[in-house]
Amino acid sequence: MTAVPVVIVGAGPTGLTAATLLAQYGVECLILERWDSVYPLPRAVALDDEVHRILARLGLRDEFAAISRPHRGLRLVDRTMRVLAEFQRYPAKGRHGYPPGSLFDQPELEAILRRNLKKYGSVTLRGSTEVTTLIQDVDGVRLDVTDTVTGGHDVIRAGYVLGCDGANSLTRAAIGSTMQDLGFTQRWLVVDVVTEADLGQWEGVHQLCDPARAGTYMRVGKTRYRWEFPLKSGETADDYRDMTRLHPLISPWTGNIPAGEFTIVRAAEYTFRAQVADRWRDRRMFLLGDAAHLTPPFIGQGMGAGLRDAMNLAWKLAGVLDEALPETVLDTYEIERKQHTRAMIKLAKIIGTAMTAGGRVSHIIRRAVAPRLHLVPGLRELATDSQTPPLHRSDLVIRPRLRRTLAGRLCPNATVDGDRFDDVAAGRFAIVTSYEPSATQRADIERRGAVLITAEPGSELHQWLRTGGARVAIVRPDGTVLNAGRQLPACH
Ligand SMILES: Cc1cc2nc3c(=O)[nH]c(=O)nc-3n(C[C@H](O)[C@H](O)[C@H](O)COP(=O)(O)OP(=O)(O)OC[C@H]3O[C@@H](n4cnc5c(N)ncnc54)[C@H](O)[C@@H]3O)c2cc1C
Repeated sequence: MTAVPVVIVGAGPTGLTAATLLAQYGVECLILERWDSVYPLPRAVALDDEVHRILARLGLRDEFAAISRPHRGLRLVDRTMRVLAEFQRYPAKGRHGYPPGSLFDQPELEAILRRNLKKYGSVTLRGSTEVTTLIQDVDGVRLDVTDTVTGGHDVIRAGYVLGCDGANSLTRAAIGSTMQDLGFTQRWLVVDVVTEADLGQWEGVHQLCDPARAGTYMRVGKTRYRWEFPLKSGETADDYRDMTRLHPLISPWTGNIPAGEFTIVRAAEYTFRAQVADRWRDRRMFLLGDAAHLTPPFIGQGMGAGLRDAMNLAWKLAGVLDEALPETVLDTYEIERKQHTRAMIKLAKIIGTAMTAGGRVSHIIRRAVAPRLHLVPGLRELATDSQTPPLHRSDLVIRPRLRRTLAGRLCPNATVDGDRFDDVAAGRFAIVTSYEPSATQRADIERRGAVLITAEPGSELHQWLRTGGARVAIVRPDGTVLNAGRQLPACH
């Protein structure tokens, strides 16, 4: 039986993103998905400009703009709606060319991801197909699948498997990996509501810090709103499917507008968890997205983390399949991504604790500490320019221990001769310099198939190199800086 080079289990946002990126590198892949269409329940609503940049790389710049709206940031408020802390996001373009924060509806995003995938002949999406067993041998993986409509069975062979199969991942079980609990489990009610009424609220994400009942509010679309509330013991989402029951919970935002003006689109219960899988890879099988990590959604990073995983792994895997890169580069995936994910989960937990911690002492601490949250390392960067932490040191992130460096950070998607950096680099290695390289160096860069970008004095990239104490940066195909320094490494 001929093996498909890459089989992706799960057509959620992570699987669809990984498939599109691999297709852009010409890799043939097959996605197997249990359901026949997009999963309709409300989930992700917020993403930052780093993740927006990934969507643009997939070719969805205009499509995503059409289904999303920029937001003004994150506010922590108390029960009187007094602002305790604010992380501002201006709706103008940020360092990557997109709004620093955007709101959207996950099923709509998945629909455009699926439509976009049809552009690539090298990808097949097989719906109504459940993977039931994964067995790995020396040169591939055998997948047993069941057609969920006919009940028929089939066997598929894969060169590599990407387990993008969500929180209850079969792939994770198959590689013998288990979730490590990072200490956060809460049941929450998630409700999407539509109304023509004008709520007159600040156009950002509100996190209500109230131990009696915390809450999250945001306006997702022109007439569409999202609320999330922790459920008390004995309560279920069923208790809030009627507007008369929900109305008192949302009244801090709706004021005197009567319940009749609102319609519940969907109300669901979710358990928010903080967990990271202990192993993300076993030889030819990888975990990505919710299969590898779960985060409480308080800083809107769960789905984003899955897209970051796909972006990190796709070019490495394509390079290995093309024999342009050694197989060992695949080891860097878990090293780089696990640490970043843990850091983001930690920040989400800090916000979650500020929202929900109970007792008088917590109340006093919250009032005193919340206004200073923007000073916490990690939150500080998120607060000021939506920048997430650098990737961990690996063979593909050369970070000296004692020197400030750009390595591990994303190169800004700056304007280069009227185009954006990503359009110029087009998924290849890029060398960004603030000086003219020699003819030999130019020839070497060209020979390696990399792109040379010479940053003009005064340009955004020139300034970026300068603030990072560098004159040259080697930028990987996923936009991450591999190495940065004063001069180009010697040619071999
Ligand atoms: C209430 C809520 C709010 C959220 N808010 C945000 C937010 O604002 N921002 C953000 O970034 N994230 C947010 N998230 C998280 C986000 O929704 C998830 O992280 C994201 O859906 C994960 O995508 P995924 O593709 O990894 O997994 P999933 O979306 O779970 O997709 C996995 C897919 O695999 C399929 N599958 C599973 N097993 C098999 C099998 N054996 N065979 C075939 N197919 C299989 C499933 O059917 C599914 O389609 C939120 C989540 C919740 C619950």
